[in-house]
Amino acid sequence: MSEQVFLEMGKATRPEIEAFVARCPVAIVPMGSTEQHGPHLPTATDTIIAEAVALRTAQKSKGLVLPAQPYGYAWVWKGVPASLTMNFDSYVQMVHDTAESLASWGVKAVYFLSGHGANPQVIKHALRETISNKVDVKVLYGMYQGIGEMMAEADSDDWLGDLHADEIETSLMLALAPELVHMDLAVRDYPEAPADYGKSEESMRHVMNTGVFGDATRATREKGERWLELAADRSAAFWLNFLNRHELG
Ligand SMILES: [Zn+2]
Repeated sequence: MSEQVFLEMGKATRPEIEAFVARCPVAIVPMGSTEQHGPHLPTATDTIIAEAVALRTAQKSKGLVLPAQPYGYAWVWKGVPASLTMNFDSYVQMVHDTAESLASWGVKAVYFLSGHGANPQVIKHALRETISNKVDVKVLYGMYQGIGEMMAEADSDDWLGDLHADEIETSLMLALAPELVHMDLAVRDYPEAPADYGKSEESMRHVMNTGVFGDATRATREKGERWLELAADRSAAFWLNFLNRHELG
């Protein structure tokens, strides 16, 4: 029998986790967000996608997959109904504490795999300012891989390079949880943004109309299934390359 390459931590017992980590001391943490995703997608969209990609990534590589972190750094939605955000310092501390906990029982490398675009910038800060040189663990982070390829394949344009309740996220959700997607309410919406957008305080909450940023009407389940596979393939390659570089492959 081939050796098990992944384990879902939240569904496993302590002895199972200890045995797995003794043999495979690496972990993947899905980093989600709970925030408005327009009239047609649930607020857990980024969390559901992060968890699904993390699991498939582990199946194609290796790792203990943690339960998804459902709260993100979502300053852009501050005050917008149906959205939650952790502040910067809380998020940095949460990332640090997660890495420190894992390292304390033998995990040597952690991949913080995000489904929400603003999380990685704070994880980067946590790595550089609080984890690096203090916690004995190697850290990899980022959005799930393959988004550039998805944008190139998509039938609609992206909105300023962003990914929010658009054709891509809606397609991924049609593949993962079609019962939660209200395609009859999906819209095409490209909000106008001032020239200083992203380089000033102007953010998504200031320019949103429906909460969709792109063309959700072009989404299909078939595209979602293909892109889910692509995200897992690319993320697994990225993670394995990192592990090999640290002789943990
Ligand atoms: Zn999203």
